[in-house]
Amino acid sequence: MARVPVKLVDWNEIVEWSRGLAGRIKESGWTPDLIVAVSRGGFVPARLLCDFLDVSDLLAVQSQHWVEAARAAERAILKYPYRVDASGKNVLIVDDIVDTGETLMLARDFVEREWKPGQTRTAALQWISTVAKYKPDYYYIEVRDWTWFQYPWTRLEDITQFIERLAREDERLKHGIGVDALRAIFVEWYGVRPEDLGWYWDEALRRAVARGVLVVEDGVYRSRV
Ligand code: AMP
Repeated sequence: MARVPVKLVDWNEIVEWSRGLAGRIKESGWTPDLIVAVSRGGFVPARLLCDFLDVSDLLAVQSQHWVEAARAAERAILKYPYRVDASGKNVLIVDDIVDTGETLMLARDFVEREWKPGQTRTAALQWISTVAKYKPDYYYIEVRDWTWFQYPWTRLEDITQFIERLAREDERLKHGIGVDALRAIFVEWYGVRPEDLGWYWDEALRRAVARGVLVVEDGVYRSRV
């Protein structure tokens, strides 16, 4: 068992899940006039929902959720609280996943308070029902066992953070190890094989080194944090 359960989600799954989510919205008989993505995770699903639901208006609100990949989330704030007149409109607020639920609740409360739409509803591809404080109006997949869903649009960022976490928390990296041992430790922690990550693995390692979190000398990796 991996220490941190990670599931790599691919682009085809994102299209399939977004289409499934669009189907749920259609079935309900409710039609959005405006879609609001919760940036940045909600961008791709929101754009696909525009396509699948034939909606042309797409805006975004940026949540600054101090989330580190695969770690508990802290509090969310909205970074650019701009105002829009959404009176009389049905507004659908979209995120990738509802984990604690804080982000989507925050975005919904903000839009309702400041944009004064006709009606707001919320949607997410996934809802972690066992931990979330909030259930979106629409979701496609109910998740029960907490997992870090590694979405394809944030692969480099997440893999870099995964490596950086190893550098900070795994004692073996303090002494210095070869790349094969590093790959094995990565699998131990995350259950994901570096060979399945393709060029993302090499690029993430380079990024971790460039940021000074890891040093590499003669093929030996050592943490600097
Ligand atoms: P929340 O805890 O519901 O406020 O989630 C905040 C944001 O963090 C989500 O919109 C995702 O972009 C990201 N996130 C939180 N938990 C996960 C998870 N288990 N897998 C992937 N992304 C996550």
